[in-house]
Amino acid sequence: MLTKAKVLIVDDDPLNRLVLEKTLQDEHDVFLVESGEKALELIKTQQVDLIILDVVMPGLDGYEVLVQLKENPITQSIPIIFISANKSHDDEAKGLELGAMDYITKPFFPSIVKVRVRNQLLIKQKNDLLEKLVSIDGLTEIPNRRYFDENLSREWRKCSREKMPLSVLIMDIDHFKRFNDTYGHRAGDDCLKKVAHALINECARGSDFVARYGGEEFAAVLPAIGSEAAKAFANKLLNAIRALKIKHKASLNDQHISISIGVATMNGKTQMSEQALLEKADKSLYAAKDAGRNQIVALD
Ligand code: GH3
Ligand code: MG
Ligand code: MG
Repeated sequence: MLTKAKVLIVDDDPLNRLVLEKTLQDEHDVFLVESGEKALELIKTQQVDLIILDVVMPGLDGYEVLVQLKENPITQSIPIIFISANKSHDDEAKGLELGAMDYITKPFFPSIVKVRVRNQLLIKQKNDLLEKLVSIDGLTEIPNRRYFDENLSREWRKCSREKMPLSVLIMDIDHFKRFNDTYGHRAGDDCLKKVAHALINECARGSDFVARYGGEEFAAVLPAIGSEAAKAFANKLLNAIRALKIKHKASLNDQHISISIGVATMNGKTQMSEQALLEKADKSLYAAKDAGRNQIVALD
């Protein structure tokens, strides 16, 4: 691991905290809190990689803290190791069933705690990598269709619930078959990479993203963005691709690579299904193609 992992220790016993800190501080960045309440508070602002959680504490006990961590999408994948003086197998089973990754009983051997923490961090690292790999398009290295579908669903639910607008763009490179036919498939791949990165570079807000939707098609999700702002954003994307000035002498447009964009918006007042939103963006894209390409269309 290049950067040190952040390990949060939650234990009401000061001596235990001290021993755990001494055990782990050489290899990891250690954070210490003395209650479940403080742990939940800290986790709101501090990202951590693993939590060692005491089961028996005054106030919220370890089980209750675990349940709350698992309910929150931001904290649900943080591995948790329970630590308890209670040697009952039922308690251990309960902890593991609630989603803890491991269970250590006190008094503990520091060398064993060290290895168990290291193991869990390694598993977490591999899971994170896997999660990332299945969401990234191999050629362009931007989010793929799977990522797009999952995130559109999530943003759709959120915007519907909060009565906020949501916009979707579908874009397609113009006359790309002719580009491949003229310059070769390799050059086509290079062009796709350049277009993908130019599109991604325009996503300044953390919540906006562009994904590779299919062969030479890309799609963007813009949460909380109404139709006027979505059109303005689509224009920025259109210009970013024109600005690349990738030569395309076989293009029937302006001898450079261009894209067409279909825009669809669900306004905050009337709900529209995800499917309807995508279909509208797709119809708008085809209207942009029909109207001569290298432009945006947002059908009513
Ligand atoms: P239009 O302006 O109507 O979109 O015309 P077009 O030629 O871009 O559309 P069409 O759907 O006829 O052709 C899409 C082309 O995109 C054909 C296909 O070979 C190419 N393509 C799709 N995926 C890739 C890829 O990963 N690499 C390369 N080099 N080409 C690809
Ligand atoms: Mg095309
Ligand atoms: Mg196409």
